[in-house]
Amino acid sequence: MTSSDCRKYIVRVSENALISLVLSSLEAYSVKKKDIKEKGRPKSRIEVYGSLFGHEIIMKNKEVIYQIEMAHTDTTAEQRRSSIDENKEAISLKVDVITSFWPHLKYLGDFHSHPFKNTREVLANKMYYMSENDREWLNDIFWKQKGYRVGLVVTIAAMEKAGRKDCNWVANNCVEATMGNYRMWLAAYCAYSARDKYIYTKDNDECIVLDCPSLTGLRWEYEDFGRFKNGKHMPT
Ligand SMILES: [Zn+2]
Repeated sequence: MTSSDCRKYIVRVSENALISLVLSSLEAYSVKKKDIKEKGRPKSRIEVYGSLFGHEIIMKNKEVIYQIEMAHTDTTAEQRRSSIDENKEAISLKVDVITSFWPHLKYLGDFHSHPFKNTREVLANKMYYMSENDREWLNDIFWKQKGYRVGLVVTIAAMEKAGRKDCNWVANNCVEATMGNYRMWLAAYCAYSARDKYIYTKDNDECIVLDCPSLTGLRWEYEDFGRFKNGKHMPT
């Protein structure tokens, strides 16, 4: 992957945040939850929702890096199989606590999962992207007021056999990873003001790049690095 000319936002996910995203999404996918029932039986494969905390870094070239340090599951969100309702009171509380006691972290946004039965269902319509409902949901002044900047979607599907496919980008803003017999897609979106609305970047938007070094390795330089350039030794 090379950097694109119009690259504007980079969403960079730490290993710590990635572990939380994987654990929460897998738990909601694989383990039956007693209080969510269908025909009297507890259900698995439900969505999960949580809040993201980290840093905003503005680079010399004006690129913005959103470094996600923590992904914290919201335990009071209302979970269902194909939708989830966040609890705004919980988000306000978390933002207040972080601001008061851990001021080096900022509220950056949220994540939610898309659980699918199999990879075919996901791939047929690129279900690892945001749905129309997800996009409409940002249309509430609450998010802008809280400083919401990033939305992550974690899509999970089971596979009949365990696989060993390498982690890779399927789009600038989406990385695919295989873990045993689960396949996972992590897609990143940024929120910005456009006229009087607050909207997400598009699917596969060239202006946004997802960087998750613990999945893909260090694949590019944020700033040029190297002591030998054009055959000359650079001063230190
Ligand atoms: Zn969604």
